[in-house]
Amino acid sequence: MAQSKFTDLAILSLPLRNKFRQIQTREIAIFKGERWSEFSPFVEYGDQESAQWLKAALAWANDPLPALKRTSIPVNATLPAVSPESVQAVLSSFGVFSTVKVKVAEKGSTVEEDIQRLRKVRELYPEAKIRLDANGAFDVETALDLIGKLSDFNLEYFEQPVATIPELTQLRQKLADAGIALKIAADESIRKVSDPLVVAREGAADIAVIKVQPLGGIRNALHIAQASGLEIVVSSALESSIGVAHGLHLAGALDELHYDCGLATAALLEADVTDNPLLPIDGQIEIRSVEPNEELIEKYSAAPDRRDWWLQRIDRCWSLLES
Ligand SMILES: [Mg+2]
Repeated sequence: MAQSKFTDLAILSLPLRNKFRQIQTREIAIFKGERWSEFSPFVEYGDQESAQWLKAALAWANDPLPALKRTSIPVNATLPAVSPESVQAVLSSFGVFSTVKVKVAEKGSTVEEDIQRLRKVRELYPEAKIRLDANGAFDVETALDLIGKLSDFNLEYFEQPVATIPELTQLRQKLADAGIALKIAADESIRKVSDPLVVAREGAADIAVIKVQPLGGIRNALHIAQASGLEIVVSSALESSIGVAHGLHLAGALDELHYDCGLATAALLEADVTDNPLLPIDGQIEIRSVEPNEELIEKYSAAPDRRDWWLQRIDRCWSLLES
């Protein structure tokens, strides 16, 4: 069994402050190598995809890390698809920030609801830079419709407005034809495809969103960032502070950093693995490693059936890495 190779393996179910990507708790596995590491593909992800996350977790646990070029990382606040009344409460947990990423196109919600949420953000934080993330859920026309209705927002960029690389290319062309200078970022089109550099080759985005776990670890993510030639934003995948530490190190190792990174997501957790979570202070998070707290591990341990499910998943992903 692969699990026997892991020291201090714990499966945790961490409650979220608000529903995010349709979930209310975030299940993760943590284990110890030279460093504490996290393996946390979302539960709906298949084994092939999740194996990359395991590769990243193993690399973080045991491999030497690239040199850091800075000691702290500027980060953005992240707003899930909450109602306008909840905007202030959610964003206040991020403290001071100059950029907000607003989730749009949540399943079952309307463009009008997205606009209401965005108007609330603008009203409460008139100076903030606003970026959008649709997780690929719009079609080209709906994305254009929303962008048109937000012409007074001066959006920083729009992350994965549509699902596929041809649609991203088409949307960028239509924006150019309409004289709209809005940058497009690719996330899923980089981390959920067999070749993460197709986006760059096809000219399908201006910005690459880079995440450590889906891209198989810091070194691979650094390589993709450099080879893409795109501007880079490092983001987390709603990990605990242990996983966020991986992302911070990646952001710290990049030659250049032009944007606030999506690494303040520990603020979306109701509970973390540590008493000293990686949360922003004055819009920055210090790069440091994280050790979990025994009591928190015990308190948030997943139910036995979920633990079994994760142990089997780890075994299957391990087999895929070995094959
Ligand atoms: Mg995204």
